[in-house]
Amino acid sequence: MIPLLRVDGLTKYFYGVSALQGVTVDVMPGELVGVIGPNGSGKTTLFDCITGHLRPDRGRVLYRGGDITGLPPHRIALAGIGRTFQAVRVFPRLTVLDHLFLAVQEMQGDGIVARLVRAPAARRSEEEAWARAAEVLGLVGLRELENLPVTHLSYGQRKLLVLGMAIMMRPVLLLLDEPMAGVNPVVIETVMAILRALHQQGATIILVEHNLRAVMNFCQRVIVLESGRTIADGPPEEVRRNPRVLEAYFGH
Ligand code: ADP
Ligand code: MG
Repeated sequence: MIPLLRVDGLTKYFYGVSALQGVTVDVMPGELVGVIGPNGSGKTTLFDCITGHLRPDRGRVLYRGGDITGLPPHRIALAGIGRTFQAVRVFPRLTVLDHLFLAVQEMQGDGIVARLVRAPAARRSEEEAWARAAEVLGLVGLRELENLPVTHLSYGQRKLLVLGMAIMMRPVLLLLDEPMAGVNPVVIETVMAILRALHQQGATIILVEHNLRAVMNFCQRVIVLESGRTIADGPPEEVRRNPRVLEAYFGH
């Protein structure tokens, strides 16, 4: 079986300082992979290089065996890789539902033009988007809030909304950058339940998260980054005991 994602020797420099140094990872279809590591260890940079938001200086990213290195983000998203960002960015005047539609339009480079001319295909895709939005609202538990401006949402609800935006296009591979950061234990449980449901529906998930309990419980495999290098990659119970991880990550 070919890996769904192959990251091969990824290296990225910022002003001569390396953020990633030859990171190599294969992710098989259906895997639940956690990525942990201290702040600044390269987790977000790894995601940015996979999703086309950054161009690596060396190395390649293969998706379903095809080279996607350096493709523009919307092409990579359309190919089936969804992601969330560490910082929640929303448009204050727009509603919850607007945001879900926006997530679709952002990925369809020509979608807005098609809407303007009201082509039948655009109408059809709009109907599909409505149906999908209803599904996603149910999944992330925001159906009752769909017509509210996002300013009415709590921080936790906004985190759920950006998760909903990331799954609108039914990504095959979902990259989540700290989806539980700063939210209360109830929302953490909600996020975990959503991720389990997505996994059951066939999604492959890579989870960057500081909540170690959540990562260790949820993931079948945990990768540890330190200073842009992989220092451990294995089942949670193995990684938890790894002396290099204890040293680097927990500082003892
Ligand atoms: P993490 O997500 O693990 O906290 P990052 O990938 O954000 O780590 O950062 C890795 C390193 O790269 C850090 O030293 C950070 O300061 C640096 N870095 C990340 N993004 C940029 C950028 N856009 N410009 C300059 N340096 C950056
Ligand atoms: Mg980060």
